Amino acid sequence: MDIEEDIRLINEVWGSEDNLHEFIDSELRRLGAIICGEAAKLPNFQVQPTEMASEIMGFSIGRSCAGRYEPDNGQCGTISLFAFTCTSESEVRTALAHELVHHWEVTNSSNTSDLPYPKEADTVIKSIFPDPNKEGRWRSGHSEAFVTKASVVAKVLGIPLEDFLVYRKRTTVK
Ligand SMILES: [Zn+2]
Repeated sequence: MDIEEDIRLINEVWGSEDNLHEFIDSELRRLGAIICGEAAKLPNFQVQPTEMASEIMGFSIGRSCAGRYEPDNGQCGTISLFAFTCTSESEVRTALAHELVHHWEVTNSSNTSDLPYPKEADTVIKSIFPDPNKEGRWRSGHSEAFVTKASVVAKVLGIPLEDFLVYRKRTTVK
């Protein structure tokens, strides 16, 4: 997808880029309160062109990432969603919630150990990555604290854990 295709997709699904940004803004506040707490500082966000995804993530990871979170020395940090993710409200919601767990991990590192690690998550992760190298690569960016928190949040939001952990293209985009 080049930039023109990104713009066409966004206009087709959302009507305009402004509408998409409005939706992200309100979801970020709603999900941020659920995931990080009412008082938490929320990250900034941006929608990035699809072609940035392979540049940033590398082809080896490909599209298992719908976005990324960049911490900012204890500041708010930034969530980027790639345009190809923005095919529906539920895709955007899932991607935002995933990146907010990264934000939570960076900003709440002190209290990550109060929940037990969900062993059943390992079964889910192994079924997503039958190749141990790919699993290892994914795990290097997703700690046990991340998986623990993600399991809780996915349950609260009613999102299947496998969809929450890893982005897989579910909608065909022209
Ligand atoms: Zn992630």
